[in-house]
Amino acid sequence: MEALLKHLVDITCQRDHTLLDSSIVSALHELVGASQVCVHELFRFRDELYVRPRVGMQDGKIVAMEESPDNNGEPISRYPALLAAIKQRKTCMEEMTANGDRILWLPVWLNDKVSTCLKVSNPTPYGSGTLPMMEGILSVYRNYQNILDYSERDSLTGLLNRKTFDEKFSRLLSANTPENSLQNQEERRHQPAEGIGQWLAVVDIDHFKRVNDQFGHLYGDEVLILVANLLRQSFRAQDRVFRFGGEEFVVLLRSTTLEDARKIFERFRANVEQHDFPQVGRVTVSLGFASISTESPVVILGHADQALYYAKANGRNRVCYYDELVSRGELHSEVSNDTVEFF
Ligand code: GH3
Ligand code: MG
Ligand code: MG
Repeated sequence: MEALLKHLVDITCQRDHTLLDSSIVSALHELVGASQVCVHELFRFRDELYVRPRVGMQDGKIVAMEESPDNNGEPISRYPALLAAIKQRKTCMEEMTANGDRILWLPVWLNDKVSTCLKVSNPTPYGSGTLPMMEGILSVYRNYQNILDYSERDSLTGLLNRKTFDEKFSRLLSANTPENSLQNQEERRHQPAEGIGQWLAVVDIDHFKRVNDQFGHLYGDEVLILVANLLRQSFRAQDRVFRFGGEEFVVLLRSTTLEDARKIFERFRANVEQHDFPQVGRVTVSLGFASISTESPVVILGHADQALYYAKANGRNRVCYYDELVSRGELHSEVSNDTVEFF
């Protein structure tokens, strides 16, 4: 009882999804005595459901896998027991592996939707009170996840908010530092292929003030919601889209070559240009992007911002890449005391 309460307190004091996932892994590992516990994320990509591990255990330690660049997920068809649980809308499905381990798949249902699932592995059968206890812990986890979601998202568009960007971006950058990424051979084997990088884009709606002035704030708000929908449709689930403030958005694009990043950003720009916004008609966006290097967050954002301002000053409705502008001599960056001097 005391151990259970300790874990419930731990679960409900978290203010971050990764820490919440870690506390549920720790609770199930210790209370149930499971040999392996892993939180999986379920997401839709091109009309297919994918599964991707988010937080799990390695050598008895709890590890977050979310930010690893090659963690792109696998189609749910590779997990037949989980697929069966989802199809039958079950909260628990048992699977026996070839070596006799018992795996419990526990989808976390919220309003008929499931975006998280726990995988609990054990070499021995579960005791009679174990399953109801696990289900109780999962209900607390589900309710708390719901509250956290609310605090991480922007209420108008449903996209991740600025605060969440600050946290996720710092975490991504600290995972990118040479000390962390080259620490051991295991990780070295997972280094991304040559030419594959991570990219940060800043998107700003062109002449948005005119939309508000001409059609009123309610139509302005609707344009923001529709642009947010186009952002969600244009990027993959492993990328992240944030409302940075007002009519400005930030995209973190993962594990792509420069050529593909450019194509993906360009496709989004064209999607907005071709969209018919009710009453308002045509809306365009400008986008500046930069590579996510080992520089500080301020410098990387500054680079993408400089490219965005260049796009604004040179016709709008275009995509500009910081490094290319610098190498063409169109922009020059002088970094002094962490402040970027704008062109
Ligand atoms: P530019 O092409 O240079 O970006 O021009 P702009 O008019 O888009 O730029 P500016 O940044 O001057 O204007 C942004 C406007 O966005 C000003 C503000 O009133 C409006 N805005 C910010 N947040 C919201 C919101 O939540 N709803 C609505 N309707 N308007 C907003
Ligand atoms: Mg703006
Ligand atoms: Mg604008």
